[in-house]
Amino acid sequence: MNAEARIPIADPAAEYRELAAGIDAAVRRVLASGRYILGPEGAALEAELAALVGAAHAVGVNSGTDALHFALRAAGVGPGDEVVMPAFTFVATAEAASYTGARPVFADIDEATFCLDPRSLEASLTPRTRAVIAVHLYGHCAAMAQIAEICRSRSLVLVEDCAQSLGADYDGRRAGAWGDFGCFSFYPTKNLAAAGDAGMITARDARHAERLRMLRHHGSSRSYLHDILGYNSRLDELQAAILRVKLGSLERFNAGRAAIARHYLEHLSDLGLRLPADNPRGRHVWHQFTVRSEKREALRAALELVGIASMIYYPVPLHRQPLYAADCAGLSLPVTEAAARTVLSLPIFPQLAEDQLRRVCKTIRACA
Ligand SMILES: *Cc1c(COP(=O)(O)O)cnc(C)c1O
Repeated sequence: MNAEARIPIADPAAEYRELAAGIDAAVRRVLASGRYILGPEGAALEAELAALVGAAHAVGVNSGTDALHFALRAAGVGPGDEVVMPAFTFVATAEAASYTGARPVFADIDEATFCLDPRSLEASLTPRTRAVIAVHLYGHCAAMAQIAEICRSRSLVLVEDCAQSLGADYDGRRAGAWGDFGCFSFYPTKNLAAAGDAGMITARDARHAERLRMLRHHGSSRSYLHDILGYNSRLDELQAAILRVKLGSLERFNAGRAAIARHYLEHLSDLGLRLPADNPRGRHVWHQFTVRSEKREALRAALELVGIASMIYYPVPLHRQPLYAADCAGLSLPVTEAAARTVLSLPIFPQLAEDQLRRVCKTIRACA
């Protein structure tokens, strides 16, 4: 590939090329088996993910969005309940609450981590609060010791949105092992990525896990007996087999992301950009490398001019989305709003080459 080729923000095809032999063999194995739904690959992936996270149970589903929805449903969250979450996240975090009939309540984020601020969480609690969703945004864990203690002392359900944080940890405990539920996405650009949609839920309680298995499979615990209203949301065997191959490289891939983050931190430190903080209490898995700049649009344009992609995650916080704005009139979340105005995510993926990384830094240096 020539040195001036476009640099994407993520590169799922490069990941495939690196692991093609193993992935192709796994796909052929599943196709030849004739077993495509709820088979041995999915069960093995669940066991492997539960072990990696340090959770008692894991249940595969169609997507990270369904994982969040089902976690709340399994905990009995519904109409009349409030679910507190950060406003600075992907919309799926809030959709999950809305699907159950509960009301999403948006709290502010911590300046240093982009994750739920425990003080804002406490200020958002009401007698109706039933659950909290902590989002480990960009691969950085939220302040889980404090958040878990707030939930424990008030008997609130704690759900972790781990869509961007597989392999991250905090105080020696993995993301997904702190809450009642950990919700993972294997969307094609996530740190562990399927060739399509897939997700998983880790759970601490066996009854919750049982409920999750019913929810993903038409409310059924035994063939053609339907106990509750469920869904068709299984993680299929082809995706599970692909994910198992990639899981073998997750440690190495996360280490590759961390090396890229270190390079950016070293080479962009003197430019007046606000750089992301590493996690002082555990492992950051660098799903995104997100800087803050008042000159974000100029920076983005300069990168685009030389074929370097960048992204704004997320330009409109959830309390300002048309979907939720009417319910949030008068709500002001200054840290979230400032982040939405200034954040810019740079290319970071394990196959990003050294010369590409240098090109990104050189372009930013010339502009900043
Ligand atoms: C990707 C993502 C989701 C949704 O996952 P899907 O698999 O795309 O449904 C939820 N929350 C966050 C923070 C995400 O990044």
